[in-house]
Amino acid sequence: MIKVENLRKVYKVGTEKVVALNNINLEIEKGEFCCIVGTSGSGKSTLLNQLAGLEKPTKGTVTVNGEVVSKMSEKELAIFRQNNLGFIFQSYNLMPTLTAVENVAFPLVFKGVDKKVRDKKARAILKEMQMGDRMNHKPTELSGGQQQRVGIARAFVGKPAVIFADEPTGNLDSKTTEQVMDMLMDISEKNNITFVMVTHDPELAKKAKRVITIVDGNIVHDSKYDNKGDKNEE
Ligand code: ADP
Ligand code: MG
Repeated sequence: MIKVENLRKVYKVGTEKVVALNNINLEIEKGEFCCIVGTSGSGKSTLLNQLAGLEKPTKGTVTVNGEVVSKMSEKELAIFRQNNLGFIFQSYNLMPTLTAVENVAFPLVFKGVDKKVRDKKARAILKEMQMGDRMNHKPTELSGGQQQRVGIARAFVGKPAVIFADEPTGNLDSKTTEQVMDMLMDISEKNNITFVMVTHDPELAKKAKRVITIVDGNIVHDSKYDNKGDKNEE
């Protein structure tokens, strides 16, 4: 589903160069739930932005769902994202004037989905996430955990091929973090959606079947675990 070849990203700050990603090679299969871990500044967000085509690489290629995103124009990327990708943000990024249902239904507007169908799909997924009694609440009327469930429902509603999440539980307490993580893994598996999540928390990453560790812009560890959490491949 995702293929990264010889990916390098160098930022220029004044006269200095920051090598955010050195030479990344990586493949992620369809339906895989994958965590990218590393300390602050290791290059996690840079890698996620590259996978999602949000920034152009200095060198190398990124292929997602058979298309080379690293070579697309902004216009091509916008269409590609609409049809293939979902995003979950640490800060939820919900529209403050819209209700939970309206926020979740929003991405479907751009896909040309009929209003009634949009509403039905948004309600169904919110129910699935135990948000059935909060459908018509605005973001300020919801807790952090509830707001993030709306954010998650919005990412999943269009059943994209891949969902990217940058520290999706970063603003939540530990109990809510656990619930949100379990929900993410469950809904990804049910829908066979490829999920790529960045976290600085190695404990949280342990729940995932695939854990990619980066240090100073290099992958230093890439492990796959089976359901029991035993390491079976490196
Ligand atoms: P992480 O998400 O793991 O905390 P980042 O990917 O955000 O790390 O950053 C990796 C490195 O690249 C850091 O040294 C950071 O300062 C640098 N960096 C990230 N984005 C930019 C940018 N837009 N301009 C210059 N340097 C950047
Ligand atoms: Mg980051």
